[in-house]
Amino acid sequence: MSNIEQTLSIIKPDAVERNLEGEIKEMFKSNGFQILKEKKIQIEKSEAEKFYKVHETKPFYNDLCEYLSSGPIVVMVLQKENAVKGNRELMGATNPKDAEEGTIRKKYGISIDKNSVHGSDSVDNAKIEIDFFFKPEYKNRFDQISYEYRKKRRTHFKEKEAAQKANSERKKAIIEEIKNHIDKNQNILFWW
Ligand code: UDP
Ligand code: MG
Repeated sequence: MSNIEQTLSIIKPDAVERNLEGEIKEMFKSNGFQILKEKKIQIEKSEAEKFYKVHETKPFYNDLCEYLSSGPIVVMVLQKENAVKGNRELMGATNPKDAEEGTIRKKYGISIDKNSVHGSDSVDNAKIEIDFFFKPEYKNRFDQISYEYRKKRRTHFKEKEAAQKANSERKKAIIEEIKNHIDKNQNILFWW
């Protein structure tokens, strides 16, 4: 009997930052997962604290929440037969050092905290985590955050463009000044 499940996957900030989004998605697809939903967002620390509430008593809780909210992440709903277990297998052990060859964390993870991906650990938690990011009534919350992120990014590129333009105009002015200087000196030489 088939047992199609859905699970929540997150491509964490360290992987998004290193532009590994495409490669990791490809690993899911080539292992038979369908990506039903996905969005790139950046969450507030307070949201990360809610998401990782199960770890609230752990010594790494604060750093973990700080980290998950430190940059853009990609949240996805994956579907496949026995998706929860299958995704945990494809992710590999929490610590990339202990992860098996061929797993995402072995391939891309940097350390136990920067281990590139999150995956739900049970069918019940998968439902809770999928709701956390994709429940229609929560939609605006994260869309607002991703809107803020896109706005920041646009501003950053506009400022960069303006700085490049100013720089090239400064260069042109210097070249112009040098040309004038040469012209002037040529005249002096000519009259000499
Ligand atoms: N984590 C950490 N230090 C630890 C254990 C876990 O920074 O000693 C982080 C790590 O990023 C991990 C996350 O906390 O992915 C959640 O821990 P969990 O035990 O649920 O591991 P996972 O389910 O992600 O394999
Ligand atoms: Mg876990």
